[in-house]
Amino acid sequence: MTARLSADFLIIGSGIAGLRAAVELASHGRVLVLTKSDPRAGSTGYAQGGIAAAVGPDDSPALHAADTLRAGDGLCDERAVDVLVTEGAAYVRELIDWGAAFDRRADGSLDLAREGAHSVRRVLHAHDATGREIARVLAARLAGLPRVEVRDHAVVVQAIVEDGGVAGVRFFDRDGTLTEARATATLVATGGAGQVYRETTNPEVASGDGVALAYLAGARVTDLEFVQFHPTVLAVPGAPRYLLSEALRGEGARLVNEAGEPFMTRYEPEGDLASRDRVSRAMLRESARTGAPVYLSLAHLPADVVRERFPVIADLCRRVGLDLATDRLPVSPAAHYAMGGVATDLDGRTSLPGLFAAGEAACTGVHGANRLASNSLLEGLVFGGRAGRAMQGATTDAWPAPVTRAIPAPPPSSPEPVSIGISEAALRDLMWTDAAVFRDRAGLQHAADTLAPLRAELERALAEGAGLTPETWRLGSLLTVGSLIVAAALRREESRGAHWRTDFPAREGRWKTHTGFTRSREDREEN
Ligand SMILES: Cc1cc2nc3c(=O)[nH]c(=O)nc-3n(C[C@H](O)[C@H](O)[C@H](O)COP(=O)(O)OP(=O)(O)OC[C@H]3O[C@@H](n4cnc5c(N)ncnc54)[C@H](O)[C@@H]3O)c2cc1C
Repeated sequence: MTARLSADFLIIGSGIAGLRAAVELASHGRVLVLTKSDPRAGSTGYAQGGIAAAVGPDDSPALHAADTLRAGDGLCDERAVDVLVTEGAAYVRELIDWGAAFDRRADGSLDLAREGAHSVRRVLHAHDATGREIARVLAARLAGLPRVEVRDHAVVVQAIVEDGGVAGVRFFDRDGTLTEARATATLVATGGAGQVYRETTNPEVASGDGVALAYLAGARVTDLEFVQFHPTVLAVPGAPRYLLSEALRGEGARLVNEAGEPFMTRYEPEGDLASRDRVSRAMLRESARTGAPVYLSLAHLPADVVRERFPVIADLCRRVGLDLATDRLPVSPAAHYAMGGVATDLDGRTSLPGLFAAGEAACTGVHGANRLASNSLLEGLVFGGRAGRAMQGATTDAWPAPVTRAIPAPPPSSPEPVSIGISEAALRDLMWTDAAVFRDRAGLQHAADTLAPLRAELERALAEGAGLTPETWRLGSLLTVGSLIVAAALRREESRGAHWRTDFPAREGRWKTHTGFTRSREDREEN
């Protein structure tokens, strides 16, 4: 027997987007937040560098927009950027009013950091644990509100599709019971999909579940080929891939080769602070040229200042036997951020009635082909809030017509768990080898030929109500999102933003479009 729950509003995920939406909804009905693991397990808690907002005396929304558009390489949705930069500062000030302790200078003004591709200092930070501080403030805001329930270790696996829209979700509860939760409006705020790749900065929970769920239910997903690879990820064999925040380079850290020579200006005029995709490619090229690793070095900066400003990163380095302030730190790129996701309008509405999306799982178009550093926390905050407001007006009495066809699926019923035909490790290896920083047709076609039949088989099994455990659902999500990334990357025959095709190295006007997929249809729309 399937257990049943109901609420007015359902939120999947307890990162910045889900929590900010919950704050907005708390006084409008019963809110149920379902979160797959510990509530702090998402990327938000890992965000180090900070949150961008035009709050400095030398800054303006127009300048912030210009930097965002430049990084997005011709594919940003300008309306979404306008919302982000004009509303962003107010959302951040509200966080401060709620108690967010961002670092300040001796005179009490905000200590704004500079990061790659920003023209001025505009990144608010709480030492190097900014996401944790923001999540703390939002969780405190929600604590004790009688109509908000946060259920942890609730693994959402499937949308309930009825009457052409989404009426809730199915999830595995802590004890493995399959449960149905119904609501007037459901928000996908499940974060990124970095776990699709062998090398990633993303936490375990970032397996693209919300994008897979929405796609399988018939929602449109878009721009999935644009995956940001963070250049400076600590690459010590056998150790976790700790992120070394871009804020380090903002404070003067330099990339050097085996001989200790700074090399970035050989490849990019902007040097160490070029955008992430450019730095990642330059590092791999330098490594190929010298046949040796590349390093991040802060040894020329005052050691006590470095340790004081970056205590969390210094501790991560210490765990693998390195001193952040004095040692050269071996670094290489790793999958970091998904620019694409479930296609939404400016209020988080997807192409299916009843289903909303916000944060990294969504694609508002704000990042275009490449995200400007520290814009993603801001996106989660602003568009999480806006989605929460739009969800207040959702009603099941008169759903609008779906933009795409909603596809119902039976709950998993077979007692025999289905087998997916590839291991998680093999899938992540394949994605790293064939669809990472440098891509070409041969590699992408190889990945597509491997993954597409497995995904077709998975979709067939799901349509028949095949049994899946939470673990096989995870693999199913990785397979679904991985194969959609590959399909999108194969179609885009140019290089733009974070998507680099060695066989099509130029950016082409005819590709100033978005790629999108809905089940049974591929589309390409003009921007
Ligand atoms: C190491 C690191 C450093 C970063 N630094 C910065 C930075 O300095 N500045 C910046 O702007 N951005 C940064 N980012 C990116 C930024 O942190 C994320 O894009 C942002 O936090 C995403 O917020 P979110 O709410 O969309 O998702 P998340 O914070 O990832 O939350 C997703 C939530 O969904 C839950 N979930 C997932 N699947 C399911 C499921 N099936 N069922 C139920 N729940 C589910 C997760 O458990 C989690 O609670 C960083 C990312 C990483 C990984």
